This record gives sequence, C-alpha cells and structure tokens, in this order.
Amino acid sequence: MAPATFGIDLGTTHSCIAYVDEAARPVIAKSAVGEDTTPSVVYFEQPGVALVGTAAKNSALLAPHLVAQLVKRDMGRKNTEFTYHGRRYTPEKISALILRELARAAEENTGHTVRDVVITVPAYFGIAERDATRKAGEIAGLNVLDVLDEPVAAALHHHALDSSPQTRHVLVYDLGGGTFDTTVIRVSGDDIQVVCTDGDGELGGANWDERIVDHLLAAFREAHPNLDPSADEQAMQAFAERAEEVKKALSATMSRNVALRVGGAAVTVPFTRQQFEDLTADLLDRTLAITGRAIETARRKGVEHFDEVLLAGGMTRMPAVAARLKQRFGLDARLSEPDLAVAKGAALFALIRQAKNVRGDARQLGITAVDAMAKKRVATVVPRAFGVKALDPRDPLALTDPLRARQMVAHLLQANTELPADTGPYPFQTAIDNQRMAEIEVWEQAGPTASEELADNTKVGHGMLTGIPARPAGCRIEITFYMSETGALTVHAKELEGGNDVRFDLAIGGMDHKAVAKARTDIAGHQVSG
Ligand code: ADP
Ligand code: MG
Repeated sequence: MAPATFGIDLGTTHSCIAYVDEAARPVIAKSAVGEDTTPSVVYFEQPGVALVGTAAKNSALLAPHLVAQLVKRDMGRKNTEFTYHGRRYTPEKISALILRELARAAEENTGHTVRDVVITVPAYFGIAERDATRKAGEIAGLNVLDVLDEPVAAALHHHALDSSPQTRHVLVYDLGGGTFDTTVIRVSGDDIQVVCTDGDGELGGANWDERIVDHLLAAFREAHPNLDPSADEQAMQAFAERAEEVKKALSATMSRNVALRVGGAAVTVPFTRQQFEDLTADLLDRTLAITGRAIETARRKGVEHFDEVLLAGGMTRMPAVAARLKQRFGLDARLSEPDLAVAKGAALFALIRQAKNVRGDARQLGITAVDAMAKKRVATVVPRAFGVKALDPRDPLALTDPLRARQMVAHLLQANTELPADTGPYPFQTAIDNQRMAEIEVWEQAGPTASEELADNTKVGHGMLTGIPARPAGCRIEITFYMSETGALTVHAKELEGGNDVRFDLAIGGMDHKAVAKARTDIAGHQVSG
C-alpha cells in the first residue's frame, strides 16, 4: 500500500481532506455524506456527542447555542473558550473535532489509516495561529508533519511550482466562505517563498449570501406585505440555504427561480446572474482593491510580472471573479477545482515531506514525481512583523515629557523574512534621567500590513533589563531578535554604559504539552460523526 499521507485544508467555512494515490495523483477523500468538502461546523448534540459538517450546518440557526462555526477566526487567540452543555472548548479543541471527523470519514472511505498529515493555514497566520493549528491536529490524535501556507498548497496543485531555471512569480487570489486573501509567491529553482500577502478576514461567501437573503426578503414582503419571515428562525434558515444554493447555481447558469415558502404563503422569485452581480459588485470591488494593494507591494519588492494567476476558494467559481481580474488588471487567471486545490496541494506536500524518509519505497511503487518533489524546499518566513514598544523619536515630547510622548512599535523583524532570522543589534536609548531599568515589550503585527500604531499590534511578551547605571536620559540600549525556524523568538537587550544585558525566550504558541495531552484525552472521549 502507498504510504498514506493526507493533506487537510482546515477552512473557515469548509474543510477538505486529500491523499496521493499510487499513480502520484492527489485524490479527495469524500465526507460522510459523500461530498468533497465538509462544512467546518460542529453541533454539540449532547454532552460528549459532536456532529460535524452539513448536518451541523443545518442546525446552525435553529440551535445556535449548541453550534460552533467560524472558529478558525479565533485560532491562536489566548483565553478564548466556548461552552456547550457546561463543558469548555478552546478553538483548538473545536478544530480537533472537525479534524477527527475528516480523518474518520477518510478512513472509512479510503481504507487507509489517517495518521500523518499536513494542515494548511492562511499565509497571514502568525506564529500563534500556526502553533494552534498544529496543536489542533495533535489533539485530534494526528501526527502533523507540517503546517503549510494555503496559497503555496494551491500553487503546488497547479504545478505552478515545478522547477524551472528562471525565477517565476505566482499570484493566488483566494475567496472562500468567510475570508479573502491574496498572496504573491516566488519560485526559484526548488525554493518556494511567499513574497507578500494581503486580505480581509471578514469578507467572503457569507457576505454574498446575505445580499441574496435581503433581496429574497424584499421580494417576499412585496408579495406578502403582512408577513415578516425575518421573525421566524426556521424561515430564515431556509432563506439562507436557498441563497447559497442560488448563488452556486448562478455560477453555471444565467438565471434561476427561487421558491420560498413561509407558513402557508409562497412566492417564486426570478433571479438572474446579472442581478446577482449588480447586488454584490461592491463586495467584489473590495477584493480587487486588496489585490491591487498586493500587486503594488509585490512591485515594491521587485515583482514586475506574474507568470501565473491562480484562483482558490469556492467563491472563485463565480465567473465574475476571473472576468473582473482580467478587466481591471489584465490578468489571465487559471481556475481548476478552486475549493479542492488547497487540500490536494497539501496532500502533495505531505508526500514531499514523507518522500525524504521513504524515497526507496516510493520508487518501488513507481512514483516518479517523488524524487523531484523531495528536493523542493518551502522557505519558512516570519509571517508578520515583530518589534518592541518604544517612544516615537519624531515626537518632540520624547525629549521634554517622555511620559506623554507617543508610543509606537518599532519593528525589528519584518514580515516575510526567511527563517532562521537574526536582526543584528538595533539601537534604542533610555527615555528619562536616572532610568535604572527598561521593560522590553515585544509586539507582533496584528493586521495584514505592518503598522507602527500600538492598536495595530498585539503584545506577545516582555522582559526586564535592569542594572542600568544612573545617567541622564539617552543611555544606549541595543536590542537583537533571533527567530528560529519553528518560530521561537529569543530577545537580547544590552545597555552599553554598564554592560548589563537580559536575554529571554518567547514561545509565541499558546498551549503547552500537558494542556495538549489533556485536551487530547478529552476529545478522544467524544463521539464524533458526520
Ligand atoms: P473556506 O476555505 O473559506 O472555508 P471554500 O473555499 O470552501 O471556503 O469556499 C466556500 C464558499 O464558496 C462558500 O461561500 C460557498 O457558498 C462558495 N461556493 C462553493 N461553490 C460555489 C459555486 N459553484 N459558485 C459560487 N460560490 C460557491
Ligand atoms: Mg480556503
């Protein structure tokens, strides 16, 4: 039997699992109900009994207090817990339940044991979110070979990363159910690297669905002015389902009638692709504005031209996406299984990871692509900028009244720097006279682009530099960041007057091994089905 390694796209609204067959082709393992993707929704039917996927999604409006969804948005967020039937669940644990169901259904449908997996994450995920994703896999009882950027996985699926002598650039436009992101990837030889990424975590298919629901409601009210379906949860659940159905249908057909029934009242609403595109044009425009911003960032980093433009995410099945990318930027985008590409690419990557160990076996199996793939190296980069809190040296108050001066984040480690990274010493100085100690606060960029505003960053740790000699303000301090390949950050601060220094390590991740083991036992005790 082929070495069974699986790739998992753990999506905000839909997840998908794939493996590579004996002929080195990635194949989707179907869900319990025979679908290619599984809604990332968990319904806590009873204490310790979790339903995952389509059935759970259909319970979302009817029993919202028992349903967890969009949990990916909370991954890596500290102190976030949800309570169902009096039990507490972290985002990692809820994700683990989704992973368990994906693995369970895949085992049932392929006959392979699911153990070694690669799980994908958005390119903008920081260290904490990546760590949480890895731990979710461990809590689910899986062996996580690696976490991989979704756009890199999509590009692997498209063979856009196959070796070629020239350096090439790939733009990935990914519009999913709850998020939009766009990423530029550089491929030179066997090295694959993210150049930049941008996006909006609150923009996705659900926004398009909402617009359709509003339109259907208006049409219904016009036909039945005395009825208000919006007060009826069951009716709203039905409207939401109809809206998503008609949206998908209009990717393939030009018009569709939508039949609505509330109580005894019924109405059929004719709906055309043109109407749909007009109702949602501003949403698509928002994705184009962000794409333009990413193209501009890439240009500043020396990218003049895109050799490939790839579409990922179920929403890119809408013909308007490729049409508008062409019209606005002159880009010719490739569309191939956009909602499955990430899982399939992850399965290929899982094989790359394993090929390094089992190349011999693979050769016996006649997997010719394996050798070539084993050479590939996906560079690990700092997903987001890291820095320290400091007074803004441009603020005149920094000299006269430092306590009131503007505080900012001075980034030492820029996003997309290749790991391991050593920043070398950065110069700072004490702000007040006779300052005997300095707190070194470490902050990570929170939004998609780096900004020195405190509000756009999150504090991730701190250390105290003590023993500074009593001197006037302006004692020189040097701060150096070193980040390992796995994202462990070492901070070294040294004051140059007396020679004292402090060195501290920050594990950016959340849960420790003991917490993971405990969560794993807890989740193993759940009955999970699709
Ligand atoms: P994510 O990775 O964000 O969880 P997906 O990439 O699976 O999500 O995309 C899910 C979104 O794609 C949903 O909003 C879904 O309605 C939409 N979608 C799926 N198929 C189609 C289609 N044929 N046409 C338009 N939208 C679609
Ligand atoms: Mg996705």
